[in-house]
Amino acid sequence: MEQTRILILYTGGTIGMGPKDPSKLNSPLIPQSWEQLQFYMPSIHPEGYFSKIKNIEFEYSAFDELLDSSQFDISHWAKMAEVIQHHYDNFDGFIIIHGTDTMAYTAAGLSFMFENLSKPVVLTGSQLPISHSRTDAISNFSNAIHIAGAKAFSLPVINEVVICFNDRLFRGNRCTKASTNDFHGFISPNYLPLAELEESIRIKSHRVLPLPNGQFNVNYSLNPNVIVLTLFPGFQVKNLQKLIQDDEIEGLIIKTYGSGNAPASESFLSALRQAKSQGTTILFTSQCLDGGVTLGKYEASDVFLPIGVISGGDMTSEAALAKMMWVLGQNGSEKEKEKMLQTSLRGEIS
Ligand code: ASP
Repeated sequence: MEQTRILILYTGGTIGMGPKDPSKLNSPLIPQSWEQLQFYMPSIHPEGYFSKIKNIEFEYSAFDELLDSSQFDISHWAKMAEVIQHHYDNFDGFIIIHGTDTMAYTAAGLSFMFENLSKPVVLTGSQLPISHSRTDAISNFSNAIHIAGAKAFSLPVINEVVICFNDRLFRGNRCTKASTNDFHGFISPNYLPLAELEESIRIKSHRVLPLPNGQFNVNYSLNPNVIVLTLFPGFQVKNLQKLIQDDEIEGLIIKTYGSGNAPASESFLSALRQAKSQGTTILFTSQCLDGGVTLGKYEASDVFLPIGVISGGDMTSEAALAKMMWVLGQNGSEKEKEKMLQTSLRGEIS
């Protein structure tokens, strides 16, 4: 059997965590070494099933400092992208072991940074540490190996950044973390799974992005001067005005009600007009997980169209945020960027 090569990048997360002080009950969990994690996954050892029977060669890379993913910022996305770019030509697929808290943000960020991706980049982690007797880590990890090493299992190659979790494979930029404790930790509310990994693995090839023609490239340009604001009854417009005054915000994402509705008060409208006149891109997303924004459906959203507010459609908050950072980091006119935000670049919006 032909050899398949998989690179595993370990960044931290619950999957490899253990108690900070093992002698104390309820000691906080912190990430442990790669060796510890590997110990509990005998199938990836050189004498294990994947190497011996499936002729998969694994290589490992780990962050110098393994972290809870709540500590990540966009510099960590760049680090992950660098590792993949460096090894891209020498591997068939990539697995990123990652905490669940910000996994959907990383998946979305990487999906935009990777241009012409033709290999699988699979993010996985778990709700329980791999050392736990009822862990979900082993099946998540094994499933990720099947997707990243598709060739060894005669499966179609998925050329996307994906999240593999609890027997489902999701497009990464369509996901959101939905549970802190259920093994079904992620949902993809507006896009069906790319695969179901049950007794057999059923890849839904028609849902996978077409293979790109161009050369793989990592586009690292991200503009972090963006902010996400959630509306709520009683929201004080003066706080938005303060934010706008410092003139540094280049992208403003507002999580509106329902299909893009928001208070039509003159103070709110004029705050948005001011932000627009300062060159801020304003994108409306929905607080609802399922469905999205249709500006103009109700009068309560129609009033925002003349201001130049644009619609985030059915994008998740994570995808909208990562996309805003990436689009604002690119060259182009304001109009071109607004068009990009509303157009599917990596299958993130319908
Ligand atoms: N706090 C952890 C993290 O995101 C949670 C997890 O991995 O499930 O790193």
